[in-house]
Amino acid sequence: MQLILMGLPGAGKGTQAEKIKDQYNIPHISTGDMFRLAIKEGTELGIKAKGYMDEGALVPDEVTNGIVEERLSKEDCKNGFLLDGFPRTIPQAKALQEITTRLNQKLDYVIHVDVPEEKLLERLTGRRVCPTCGATYHVVYNPPKEKGICDKDGTELIQREDDTIETVQKRLAVNIEQTKPLLDFYNKQGILVTIDGDQAIDNVFEDIQTSINK
Ligand code: ADP
Ligand code: ADP
Repeated sequence: MQLILMGLPGAGKGTQAEKIKDQYNIPHISTGDMFRLAIKEGTELGIKAKGYMDEGALVPDEVTNGIVEERLSKEDCKNGFLLDGFPRTIPQAKALQEITTRLNQKLDYVIHVDVPEEKLLERLTGRRVCPTCGATYHVVYNPPKEKGICDKDGTELIQREDDTIETVQKRLAVNIEQTKPLLDFYNKQGILVTIDGDQAIDNVFEDIQTSINK
């Protein structure tokens, strides 16, 4: 199964990706996670990406397209993959077409998790993540069993540096403008499915399964 997850920041892509990856046994490929890891490890990629990420701006396409092609070429993507956070622009979508053609892959579905804009600010500012395993929580909507502690490995949860009100507002503005043409692009190809993301996490997942198991 070759899938793309789309939706505005905070729509629940990372949360659903965790479930989809286990259910369909495909790797979850998040460009945001790849950049955050590169920053943590201090690699050349991380140095390039950091300035853009701190501003809530997009990392340039030539950098982003390159890391995606490298990742999709790996052995574990032979049976499929779940892309999260890529593509975000039409040039990236076109680059992805070229990449998948070169690698003999074909997209099955683009899953759009749709959430009203006014809900996103609260979701993002309440988000907490585990710096060890990447699990995502929410202080109100998806709290860990013990406050501030990851259920999976006991690590103290943190708030992402770009989940402050100011950066969130910038990221939303950038993304709202860029998402619509992408949805049109995949709708024309007949592979877009839109899911109501404004429901409980498990219900969103059920709807996703129903629409891609058809
Ligand atoms: P969110 O969807 O919650 O904003 P991500 O973790 O997907 O967060 O992305 C965080 C940051 O990483 C973005 O603000 C951007 O700087 C960078 N980034 C992630 N994916 C891309 C992409 N496809 N193109 C350019 N920049 C990206
Ligand atoms: P994205 O990857 O699209 O930026 P996340 O999966 O990180 O989004 O979710 C953003 C925040 O909203 C997290 O704190 C998460 O726990 C919470 N969240 C995710 N899905 C839902 C949902 N269906 N209802 C309420 N909160 C949710």
